[in-house]
Amino acid sequence: MKILVMKFGGTSVADIKKLKNVAIKVKRNSKKYKVVVVLSAMAGETNKLQKYLDIVSEKSSYSSDLVITSGEHVSVGLLSIILNKLKVKSICLLGWQIPIITDNSYGKARILKINNKIIKNYFKKNEVIIVPGFQGISKEGKISSLGRGGSDTTAVALACSLKATRCDIYTDVDGVYSTDPNIDKKAKKIKKISYEEMLEMASLGAKVLQTRSVELAMKNNLVLQVLSSLNNSPGTFIVNEKNLIEKEMVTGISYTKNEAKITISGIPDKPGVSSLIFGILSDSNINVDMIVQNISQDGLRANVTFTVQEREMNLAKKILEKNRDLIDFHYISTNADVSKVSVIGVGMKSQSGVAKKMFKALADLKINILAISTSEIKISVLINRKMTNKAVKKLHKAYVL
Ligand code: ASP
Ligand code: MG
Repeated sequence: MKILVMKFGGTSVADIKKLKNVAIKVKRNSKKYKVVVVLSAMAGETNKLQKYLDIVSEKSSYSSDLVITSGEHVSVGLLSIILNKLKVKSICLLGWQIPIITDNSYGKARILKINNKIIKNYFKKNEVIIVPGFQGISKEGKISSLGRGGSDTTAVALACSLKATRCDIYTDVDGVYSTDPNIDKKAKKIKKISYEEMLEMASLGAKVLQTRSVELAMKNNLVLQVLSSLNNSPGTFIVNEKNLIEKEMVTGISYTKNEAKITISGIPDKPGVSSLIFGILSDSNINVDMIVQNISQDGLRANVTFTVQEREMNLAKKILEKNRDLIDFHYISTNADVSKVSVIGVGMKSQSGVAKKMFKALADLKINILAISTSEIKISVLINRKMTNKAVKKLHKAYVL
């Protein structure tokens, strides 16, 4: 029999009524498939746990992972009880019981290996398997968490390991939209999207799926579906680009409001400086996104501008200031009042004119572009945060989505 992994996010398991609804969906699928259910914690629970950790100022440790992964224990336990009352045999398997083995980076552990022997044994007994999302067991044998939003990754990793037919990700939206419907009511649901496009959408704030989970699905060619747990309509399928019949020039407009811009002025214009700067940041685990470098007029000194997560802006600045003598720069300026707006589409690879249209649309709105970055299937611009919604709407219209 074929295997299906069903993952339900926090809002889909927010209360007993919602869990009963989940149970009904699971029961229905359990007639056609061997089912693995992966659950998030009930909505708001993980945030509550995070607040406790903030109060005791615990960053990432084994103990904090013990706390932060505990919300999932409640949701999986309750679902198992409800399923058993519906006469669906089920078993909860925690991360350590399977085991889902991760590295030792508590707070954002990466999955190294999944042993699916136990799961397969329970399949033989026709039991639905319920797994708490977002947790594993580290190499040193302690509970680890995969980082916020990590339940998607748990679900996809299990689906890959079990060679499942598909992994369905149930959430409170009915799919992936061409842009944020809260910004533009004309946003429409995308039926099929490629992994690459979805990756851009996810990392740019479409918030539907954790980026890591999409990367993993792409590597393993696993079909994903994002759909609503509140109705029965099909959602958005995330597939290999080869399976897209029509390649849209632009599939979606995405944005993030959580980045900040850092400019280092007066760095020496010579080999090795970027390597030094970004090496220092990377050693401190600071993720850098857009990078723009320009040479100053005298040709001796250059400026480099880049973006980091807003919450890491001050830390990045501090670390760079500490290394001022080593890097040899004049000054650093920061600006948290920015957002990144992107147009995304695999059709860009083969069609021209996408950038021109984007810049024209922004110029019409008199929006100043602070930085630009491009990839094969995306163009992103950094703009003043105030202008985000206007820009998104205008671009959505410009590409007639
Ligand atoms: N409950 C965890 C969180 O809220 C994991 C997840 O839901 O994906 O981040
Ligand atoms: Mg989520």
